Amino acid sequence: MQRFGIGVVYHQNQRTVACGQCGAAWQERFIGVSYFNSDGRKSDGESHLCPRCIMAPLTVDFVIEQEIALALTCSDGRDAAQVRKDTIARYEEFLASPISPPIPSRNAG
Ligand SMILES: [Zn+2]
Repeated sequence: MQRFGIGVVYHQNQRTVACGQCGAAWQERFIGVSYFNSDGRKSDGESHLCPRCIMAPLTVDFVIEQEIALALTCSDGRDAAQVRKDTIARYEEFLASPISPPIPSRNAG
């Protein structure tokens, strides 16, 4: 029995979320990835996932394609190739960056 599902959440603007898995800050644009519990409702606050923590059945490529499609819908006249390039670059930059540790809550030593 599956306790959690994973799904996409669409929204109209951009917002910065903290990944519930690794703690990284990620700026969602138009689309985000979240856990849902068995009731189909998000748990507040800690359900967001950054691109690095996206897992099956979703893939980063899928989310990128969705974001590109939404960005093109919302931006009149922008060059489609440029939107695609910018979006992919944003994800690649995030994925290439070192994992920033979560805010320490206790002494390690
Ligand atoms: Zn993460």
